[in-house]
Amino acid sequence: MARYRGSVCRLCRRENLKLFLKGERCYTEKCAMDRRPYPPGQVGQGRRKKFSEYGLQLREKQKARRLYGVLEKQFRGYYHEASRKQGVTGEELLKFLEQRLDNAVYRLGFACSRAEARMLVRHGHVQVDGNRVNIPSFRVKPGMDIILRDKVRDNGRVLSAMSNVEKRGVPGWLELKSSEFAGRVVAEPAREDLSIPIQEQLIVELYSK
Ligand code: SF4
Repeated sequence: MARYRGSVCRLCRRENLKLFLKGERCYTEKCAMDRRPYPPGQVGQGRRKKFSEYGLQLREKQKARRLYGVLEKQFRGYYHEASRKQGVTGEELLKFLEQRLDNAVYRLGFACSRAEARMLVRHGHVQVDGNRVNIPSFRVKPGMDIILRDKVRDNGRVLSAMSNVEKRGVPGWLELKSSEFAGRVVAEPAREDLSIPIQEQLIVELYSK
């Protein structure tokens, strides 16, 4: 499957937003957004161009897609599913993204970044309701229990991520039991839980053309 393999810091600089794709480094002064807060490439140096209406919509979509590490086809699928639901399409779209298992593992603080969380899931280190689930896009729902398997509980990366969880904070739709390396989905994510600077209505405008 096609995957972006370039520098992830370039993505933050392109979107002019910290997307926290590199884990701990994102919280240090080594963050490329702090050191070079302008678009990548020589042309972009020192200035940001003005975007057309389409450009603004496209950037907003790319921002959300890159933040959650989702490919275009899957992202479009989430949009179509959201548009069929009752409620505000943009909010439903963000809710679907937020309810991905890899995101929940990241939000619970078991991993420093969504990419690391995805790896934990892919390698079968996460159980949902007692069953091993290795599908990062698996949708978690209220009442589900998410638990890290014993094998990785003493992993340095996991422990380091968990020591930083207070700094990041656990959103209200999840409940963390850190001593048990477990979490519970207590509600559906609400828009205010997401604290993401994304204007989802622009994404909806882009796709509904
Ligand atoms: Fe983005 Fe993190 Fe790189 Fe900073 S260090 S530019 S937040 S990925």
